[in-house]
Amino acid sequence: MTTKLDHLAIAVPDLDAALAFYRDALGLELQRIEQVEREGVRIAFLPLGDGPATSWIELVQPTRDDTGIVRWMAKHGPGMHHVCLAVADIEATLARLAAHGCELINPQPVTREDGTRYAFVHPRSAFGVLVELYEKPG
Ligand code: ZN
Repeated sequence: MTTKLDHLAIAVPDLDAALAFYRDALGLELQRIEQVEREGVRIAFLPLGDGPATSWIELVQPTRDDTGIVRWMAKHGPGMHHVCLAVADIEATLARLAAHGCELINPQPVTREDGTRYAFVHPRSAFGVLVELYEKPG
């Protein structure tokens, strides 16, 4: 597998208002909305492309005031929060980044319930962009 764009995450204060643009006006499909209690967010998933090559726009709305995304929006306003790249081997990618002196928010990958492993690279090392890395199971 080569590295591909998995998703762009956009921080929004109001999911319905954001869907009025991304779904209704722009015409993207809304595949599903997930409530992630642990992270205090609701996420709308809008696919771009088909099959294994599908990338996603994720609209992320905080549902609690104590979340990182609320603090981020207080500073930046709504907008593009992070870019996520799916890689074949997340540990090799993190080792490569560390060898290049990059600042890693998660030096070790974190595993989600669905088996996806992820880690964030600090925007200081990525020219102002928060970069998330995914390694999908299987
Ligand atoms: Zn993400």
